[in-house]
Amino acid sequence: MDNLCDINVIKDVLGRHSFTFSKALGQNFLVNPTVCPKIAQMGNAERGFGIIEIGTGIGVLTNELAKRADKVVAVEIDSRLIPVLEETLSEHSNVKIINDDIMKVDLHRLIQEEFGGLQVAVCANLPYYITSPVIMRLLEERLPIRSVTVMVQKEAGQRLCAKMGTREMGAVTVAVNYFSEPKLLFNVSRGSFMPPPNVDSCVVRFDVRENTPAGVTDEKFFFKTVRGAFSQRRKTLVNSVSASLGIDKPKAAEAVKRSGLEENVRPEKLSMEQLIKFSEELKTICGL
Ligand code: SAM
Repeated sequence: MDNLCDINVIKDVLGRHSFTFSKALGQNFLVNPTVCPKIAQMGNAERGFGIIEIGTGIGVLTNELAKRADKVVAVEIDSRLIPVLEETLSEHSNVKIINDDIMKVDLHRLIQEEFGGLQVAVCANLPYYITSPVIMRLLEERLPIRSVTVMVQKEAGQRLCAKMGTREMGAVTVAVNYFSEPKLLFNVSRGSFMPPPNVDSCVVRFDVRENTPAGVTDEKFFFKTVRGAFSQRRKTLVNSVSASLGIDKPKAAEAVKRSGLEENVRPEKLSMEQLIKFSEELKTICGL
C-alpha cells in the first residue's frame, strides 16, 4: 500500500486490527509522506542491495525500501503488527518479516542466510529507548554491511554525529567514529509522527569503515578508557580516567605526558589519534 502515511488509512487499518500504540515499544509511526522516500534513497535502498529494517510499525518505510531494494528483511518485536503487515505489504514478494527483538537476532546468520550475493544496509526509524545499544551492536559486531541509516532523537543524533575534538562529543561519538563515518542527513519535526513524541528527530547515516583506525592493540581497553574519559565531562582527562577506572593519578598523568598532551587537557579536546595514543600509553604504564 502506498498511502500508509495517510492518517485516515492508518486509523482504518489499526482500528480493524484493534491495535493500540505501545509507548514502551517506542511506537510513534511516521505520517509525513516525504520522510520515508528520503530515508530509502539516502540509505542505500537500491538494486543490488538487501536491507535490514528494524521496527516496521505498519510498514510505511518497509514499503519504500521494498520498491527500491532487491530484498528487505524487517525485524518487528510486536506480534500484534504481523497481521497488519500481511495486509499493508501484501504486494511485495521481496519482503520477509521476522517477529523478534532486534537485540536477540543473530545478524551474522541472518545476513548469510537471507542476502547471498547482495550488498547489505540497515535502515530504520528506531524505537528511541534502544537507540545507542542498537547502533553500537550493529557497528561493534563488524557485520558485513555498507551503511546504517536511522532516525533518532535530535539530541542523540547531534551527539552521534558531533565532530571529534568539540564540546558536543561523548564516548558514543568516539565509538561510532571508530567504526564508521557518521553524517547527520536531515531533521524531522515531532509533528511528522502519530502520536507525536515530545522531541524532534533527525536522520543519521553511518558509512561503515572497511578498516578501523590503526594503533589499537586492545579494543576492549581502548573503549573502557574512552568511557572512563567521558564519564565525568567537566573534569580533566587525568581526573576523569583515574576516578572512573581506579587508576593512580600519577600513572594517568604520566600517560597524558607521554602522549604529548597538556597536563590539564579535557577529553573533548582530543582527536581519535590522541585518544588511541593515550589509551596505549596508559595500558603500558599500568602493565596491562
Ligand atoms: N517504521 C515505522 C514508522 O516509521 O512508522 C515504525 C517506527 S516506531 C518509531 C518503532 C518500531 O519498532 C515499532 O513498530 C516497535 O514496535 C518496534 N520495536 C520496538 N522495539 C523493538 C525491538 N527491540 N526489536 C524490533 N522492533 C522493535
